[in-house]
Parts: sequence; C-alpha cells; structure tokens
Amino acid sequence: MKTIAIIATGGTIAGTGQNGKTVGYHAGEISVDDILQSIPGIHEVSRIRTFQLCNLDSNEMNKEIWMQLSNTINSLVLDEDIDGIVVTHGTDLIEETSYYLTLTLNTNKPVVITGAMRPDTATSADGPFNLYQAVNLACSDKARGKGVMVLFSNTIFSGRDVQKVNNFKIDAFGQKASGCLGYMQDEEVYFFSESFKKHTSNSVFAGNYTTLPDVGIAYFYGGVDSSILYHLAEKNEGIVLVGSGSGNYSQAWLNAINDLSEKGIVFVRSSRVSEGIVFSDKVFDPNEYCVASNTLSGQKARILLMLALKKTKNREDIKRIFNEY
Ligand code: ASP
Repeated sequence: MKTIAIIATGGTIAGTGQNGKTVGYHAGEISVDDILQSIPGIHEVSRIRTFQLCNLDSNEMNKEIWMQLSNTINSLVLDEDIDGIVVTHGTDLIEETSYYLTLTLNTNKPVVITGAMRPDTATSADGPFNLYQAVNLACSDKARGKGVMVLFSNTIFSGRDVQKVNNFKIDAFGQKASGCLGYMQDEEVYFFSESFKKHTSNSVFAGNYTTLPDVGIAYFYGGVDSSILYHLAEKNEGIVLVGSGSGNYSQAWLNAINDLSEKGIVFVRSSRVSEGIVFSDKVFDPNEYCVASNTLSGQKARILLMLALKKTKNREDIKRIFNEY
C-alpha cells in the first residue's frame, strides 16, 4: 500500500457554517483529520500522514506561506516512504499556489491540490469526494512526472493553467482553451493531455526559497491615469500589467512604462481577456521594454516574475523564461 502525505492549509473544504447551508460559513475551521473522518474507505486507498500547515481562508495566502509550503513538500518528497502529496487549499487562490508549486517543487512524485466550494457542514459538501479522488490520483502511477495537478469535480487540471472560472458552482475550475489534463471516475484516472511547459524537476526554479522580490499588479481600465504605476514602482521591483485586448493600454501608461523601465522596473504585459495569448508588440511597446506574459494571467505572471527576478534582472533573459514556463 502507498503512503500519501496530506498537507492541509484551510479553505472551504475545512469550512463550517449553519447546518445544511452553502453560504455564510467560515473557511479554515476544522482539521484535515476531521475531514478524513467523513471519507469512507480512504484508509483502504493508502496509508495517510497528515500535516496541518495552517488553517486559513486562501485569501490570506502570501509569498511567505507559498515558500513554507513548497519547502515543506520539497523535504517530504525526499522521504522514500512517501509516494505522493495532496494539498488541501481554499479555491480562491488555488491557481497561484498551484503555479508556485509547479515552478519550485523538485520532484517527479505526484502532487495534487484540491479543495471544495461547499463547506463541510453543507448538504452534499463536495470536499470529501474531491479529497478522496485527490488521494487516489496521488497514488496513481500514471500521475508520476505530470507536475502539480489540481483535482476538482472529477477533473484533473495542470497547476500552470488552472483557473477558477466560476465563483458559485461546484464545477468551479477550468483551463480555458487548453481544456484539462484528464478525468477521474471514482478511483480511476484517465489522462488525455499534458502540459508542455517546464515544471517541477525540469524547472530551473526547483528548490527552496526564503525570500522573494516584491512584484505588484496594475489593472488597466478606460480613463485610468498612470499614478498607479508610479505608486507601485515605489515598493516593487517588477509590475505586471493587466492590459485590455492583447495586453494593451493608453498612451499615458506607455509614457510611464518607458520612464519607469529606464529606471530599472521590469514590466510584464498580460491581458484582462480570459483566453488568448500576449505576444510582444511594437505598437503598444515600441521600445520592447515589456515581457509578454504568453498565456499566463496577471496573477500567474506575478508568480513567475517573482521567481525570474530572483535569478536575473536582464529583460531578454526574463522574456526567454516567460516563453518556457
Ligand atoms: N474563500 C475560500 C478560500 O479560498 C473559498 C474556497 O475555499 O472555496 O479559502
């Protein structure tokens, strides 16, 4: 029998509220051992070791907790007795944590993140079934080397591409144009695609971190002036722009981007449009100061820029990194 380490961080999967209701609850209230008690048969799937890293609503996640979580997993996977890792997590920031782990974990062992849209006290809470499937996926030989995966509602997503696409339904995740990696039916795992971006043990960022540079995000909208960019530049080494269309913005923003780039701030252009790709663009960025985010959303581009800035401040190198990861 395999051994799976479950690292619990909180979220709705550990949430409690009024009996039966799906709203008005508090995330991160019960322990992972309490959740396991409501999963019949889980101990016949694998031996389980539990670690309660924190018990938070995932909106409290930050780079310090991401580093702590990743460093914890990097040391657990060195234990030959541990075959796979499951992380329980709030759904709101799962996509950021999953990408940070995708880039920094140094392992081929399966790492699966899951959560729930309904608290533990709701009628038909979805957490226990998601956790049951996540443990089965972490036990599967097919999941080795697939990178960090997010398991939700019978569906396997890539840690790089997963996005919360619905803030209400239990089928809350998607990968937009790239679909998903596969499906699960109860314990059975069916993969039908994989991520071609570098991840985990093939990532140049795989390893432990104790500090990360500050990177901010600026959202473009009609009529916004450039003061937000100057404000963010005061306390960040990098700024991710969430532009319109294919990563676009006004002349006022372009003037500020040119000015701040010359002062050493590194900009990434991403888009507020949910599907598509951002390439470099000589019209919106004539000096080619900005790094194009490729298919990464603003919040995911921020994770990669923090790690990229750890390695280099050279824009051309960072552009190469954004094409590979
Ligand atoms: N606010 C919760 C969290 O992210 C939402 C959830 O888990 O579904 O922790």
